Amino acid sequence: MASKMSLMVPKAPKPRYSSLCSDDELLDDDTSCDESESLQRSSWIGDLASISGSMTSIYLPITSHDNAPPPREDPAPTSVPVIKMGWLYKNPPQGSLIYQHRWVKLDAEYLRYFDTEKDVYSKRIIPTLSITGVVNVGEQKFEVVTHNRTFLFRAENDSERSEWVTVLKSCVRTTSLDVTFNPCVSYEMRGYLELRGLRSKLYTVVCADKVFLYKNIEEYRMGIGITSIDMNVGNVKEVDRRAFDLTTPYRIFNFVADTDQLKDQWVEAMRNSIAEALSNYEVAERIWAEPSNQMCADCSAAKPEWAAINLAVVFCKRCAGEHRGLGPSVSKVRSLKMDKKVWTEDLIQLFLAVGNERANQFWAANVPPSEALTLNSSSEERRRFITAKYREGKYRRYHPLFGNQRELNNALCINVQSSDVCETLALVFCGADVSCDTGDPELTSPIALAQHHGQNLQLEFLTQNRNTELPRSEVKVAIDRVHYMAPPSVTHNGFLFKTASMARPITEKKGKEEFSRRWCVLNDGNFSYYESDKNATPNGGLKMKEIVCLAVSPPETHGYDHTFELYSDAERLYLFGTDNPETMREWVKSIAKSFIPAAAEDLLLKDFERIGRLRYKDRLNREMSRLGWFCLVGSSLHIRLEEHTADETIDLQKLLELSIQPENEVLVLVERGRTLYIEGERKLDFQGWAAAIQRAAGSSGDTLSQQQLTEADIPVIVERCIHFTTQYGLTSEGIYRKSGVNSKIAALLEEFRRDARCVWLKEGEHQVDDVSNVLKRFFRDIEEGLFGQQAHSWLSATVFSDESSRICQYRLLFSNLPRVNQATLRALVNHLYCVQRFADLNQMNLHNLAIVFGPTLFQADGKDNSAGRVIEDLIQHYVTIFDVNEQQLKKQLDEITYIIKLRDNLAPKTGTGSGDFICTVYLEEKKETAEQHVKIPATMTAAELTFEILDRRKISVKEKDYWCCFEVNEKEEMERPLHYQEKVLPIFHSLGTDSHLLVKKHFSMEAMLVYLASKVEVSKHGMMKFREERSLLGLSTGSFNDRYFILNSTSLRLYKEVRSNRPEREWPVKCLKVYQGIKKKLRPPTCWVLTVIYESEKQEKQERQQWYLCCDTQNEMREWFATFMSIQCGGRVWPAEWLKSRVASHSAPQDARLGNVSLIPLRGSENEMRKSVAAFTADPLAVSLINQSQPGSANHTANHTALCSQTQ
Ligand SMILES: [Zn+2]
Repeated sequence: MASKMSLMVPKAPKPRYSSLCSDDELLDDDTSCDESESLQRSSWIGDLASISGSMTSIYLPITSHDNAPPPREDPAPTSVPVIKMGWLYKNPPQGSLIYQHRWVKLDAEYLRYFDTEKDVYSKRIIPTLSITGVVNVGEQKFEVVTHNRTFLFRAENDSERSEWVTVLKSCVRTTSLDVTFNPCVSYEMRGYLELRGLRSKLYTVVCADKVFLYKNIEEYRMGIGITSIDMNVGNVKEVDRRAFDLTTPYRIFNFVADTDQLKDQWVEAMRNSIAEALSNYEVAERIWAEPSNQMCADCSAAKPEWAAINLAVVFCKRCAGEHRGLGPSVSKVRSLKMDKKVWTEDLIQLFLAVGNERANQFWAANVPPSEALTLNSSSEERRRFITAKYREGKYRRYHPLFGNQRELNNALCINVQSSDVCETLALVFCGADVSCDTGDPELTSPIALAQHHGQNLQLEFLTQNRNTELPRSEVKVAIDRVHYMAPPSVTHNGFLFKTASMARPITEKKGKEEFSRRWCVLNDGNFSYYESDKNATPNGGLKMKEIVCLAVSPPETHGYDHTFELYSDAERLYLFGTDNPETMREWVKSIAKSFIPAAAEDLLLKDFERIGRLRYKDRLNREMSRLGWFCLVGSSLHIRLEEHTADETIDLQKLLELSIQPENEVLVLVERGRTLYIEGERKLDFQGWAAAIQRAAGSSGDTLSQQQLTEADIPVIVERCIHFTTQYGLTSEGIYRKSGVNSKIAALLEEFRRDARCVWLKEGEHQVDDVSNVLKRFFRDIEEGLFGQQAHSWLSATVFSDESSRICQYRLLFSNLPRVNQATLRALVNHLYCVQRFADLNQMNLHNLAIVFGPTLFQADGKDNSAGRVIEDLIQHYVTIFDVNEQQLKKQLDEITYIIKLRDNLAPKTGTGSGDFICTVYLEEKKETAEQHVKIPATMTAAELTFEILDRRKISVKEKDYWCCFEVNEKEEMERPLHYQEKVLPIFHSLGTDSHLLVKKHFSMEAMLVYLASKVEVSKHGMMKFREERSLLGLSTGSFNDRYFILNSTSLRLYKEVRSNRPEREWPVKCLKVYQGIKKKLRPPTCWVLTVIYESEKQEKQERQQWYLCCDTQNEMREWFATFMSIQCGGRVWPAEWLKSRVASHSAPQDARLGNVSLIPLRGSENEMRKSVAAFTADPLAVSLINQSQPGSANHTANHTALCSQTQ
């Protein structure tokens, strides 16, 4: 109470320098504002203090409605009721670890947070319409997920958190295709404006009666702003040539425009906005003069600003959304503030005459308390209630004449001559016909009657309801499917042949005898089939809204040449056929048009073979699946995703990965930079989609461009064969000339043709000569050949005896080749060029290769020498003809040399001499595209290797990016980051086949450094759960038991319990290698487990133990880790000057005991991974990245997105 009282006396605000800079990432330079700026800001605040000190500010318009003087508890001058407000902790911005205490406020329109509860202007404003999910993430934390961003909050306690999550969840839009969540889509003026006191300009948008401030245009596009300024309390004053002030009772905004013209425009726009804000309230206030209109007719929220002009009710914004969902034929929704033109004097009077109270006496006469709405009702509840109330008329007071149409009409005609509009309302919504025949030859309609009798309000009401759909309860089924938006009514009819409906996919050919001829009619969203066109009763039918998919079969799939399948949401499949392609096309078009919503109608323009709706998730929205409309055309999947405004297209032949997760029936499409999960909401149509997409993602034909392609437009098969031969075949004598095993070649080629993406060539499993012959055979068989239709021109180029003329000719011809042919030819010739450079090893010189490849590539018989001549020229003049960067070529050849040397060295497994090694290192995740081959000199440290990789991928490194090289063991499901001074080569030699090196960011390094910095002495003790690897003798119990541990600078000691005097076990720290993660099979009690490997130093008794330490919390584990690491590397956990160390690291001292720390668990379900990573990394950047990144594979952690954005 006391605190509330103190709010009554506003104190002068303390100077806060960053009150407008948002505390998220991005505005880095705001944190380092210099002295003069700070001064400037404090003077700005000073002005503000003086203004809010004089409470009844002259700037406050004196108006009667009570939202002008800000309520004490809720200073924001807004009429939108607050749903919930309170203190929360907001996740720390980049570079900080401290959660920020924020006053958070949620109303129907926005989620905002403020520095204090007194603030009027937020630090962040997030439209509730952009919220797509709310997720608990443990430890009283929860995430608010929007289309583009995730905000992490922490509540004081669990009940507080669950309250927030509940109210926020009710704001989540699950099914709407509404894309207008950005409130500023229609703006009066927008652009960058300097705000004095801030270093960077703000993107400012004047929109209706508000001014929104955004950090930049990107955030404007996302819809996530800093704050909004209600202009009804604003005043604009020009200051000088380019500067002007926007003054509100709470703050003065000193804006500076780029030019004086722009300033004039801004000033005018803002003044218009103020005028609009003031005039907006005119209508609202007049309507609110009727007391019952001051509360939402549906949920009782205060100050409702929306109305249904035909129903004569006023409601709040949240209810307005659901009213709009009913469609204008049921509820004509208008704003009291924005739609000023519709508010004629008569309409306003009508609202005063009827009003919410009297309207509800009709509409809400019988509402069961359990169904009534409250302020906190969810969208779903609102939708259900409002639909029942107005569309079904479920709660209405039935007129005594209900059901008797003639009497109703008669009563209406009599009543409209009186002033009793409420009676008219009851009559009309109980079935009286607004345009019924009055029997009066002069005044033929009730409208004419009302007009004649000067009943303007009756006239107004009748006019507004001329086309209103009357309440009817039987449409309930239709409206439950909220995603179904009534398409334009399509009418079509004609004869079709149909089979009986099926519950299984059609696998066999259906003969003509299985079809029956039916007269089919598509009308008003219903598809009916009749015995003949003479019959009046249909044999059966389908509602278009039940159709989930339409698939066109390839011609001649069945007895009738042209067939298509309709899938219903009741898991039935209907097959229709005709012999006439024209007939089919018309039907397909009409049917598709009648079940595809208007928002996705662009898809209808495509020549699709399959169209329909599916639920999907993507990396931005992984919590909740959404509805999308998909259509498949050849190898392109066109998609209209919910919330998106434009269609997207996925080139299925270029997917990096395509798989079906069988357990939950999800189709996973991995493109570069994004992953789409299509869910099998229903089995039948999903099976059809999965098969069709898989088919489309495969090779669609026998020409080059119809193959599965890499991003570089090279057929996957070509790239994989070349890669394999480069790795393992360059020293193979007679490569490409020797024949392989025919049966194996044929089998491998077949595998590639089926799905090249799934074929992974492996040494040992595949032979070099088989693979090289697969490549040759592929080129020999490819339809149209590598040189396409111009093959003869290439051959005839050889007639030029002059070398340079030939080269010219080749260059010209090359430039005329299709894109895929160009990319493929370039890749192949590059490969052959490399092969012949190692002719001393493989005996395949230029000439030999040309003899082999000439006839192959020109698909000739070998009698014509010119084919060989062309290839010889292409290889020999590779650099000139293909404009090759010679430096890159040299690098490539160097790498090959290393590979060869490495393989030589590896063969006897003894070569640890002075030779360099080529090692495969992955960037961010283990996959082929992230592979780097690095020459590893014996002296190379992990930091050098890391920089080498980052340099190659041109990734710029920031101070707080803790890039690290990790040793990852896939089998043991564990990993550890190498210490920056650790030598890579010995690690590389010790790696088993299950392990690899991976360079990625170390997300918890910052937190560990902070922990270590807080310690006086590096040691730690405490309880952990201990488990030994089952020994060979099987003596270990194999379970986790509580043990007490003491870790000091020399050893780790294990005690049976805290009180034990003597340790049960003791290990020297320097003999321990500590990994993070554990095999899930071992079922650790928490996921915070360290796997520790102990290797004794003693020569005589070589011993190796592996055991596990399981911590209760991630914090605990992080501290143990940090302590281990710090002890092992003598306190040098991270280079003091990380960025400068890249230079220094080349001359770093040789002493490097191994630091063995890693913090990100490796395996687990997607959810576990996500949660643990998010919880573990205190870095907010990590959290937001995780939400954008893709789940699925374990190594697919937060970094992936960063990689994509950085390398693109
Ligand atoms: Zn409401």
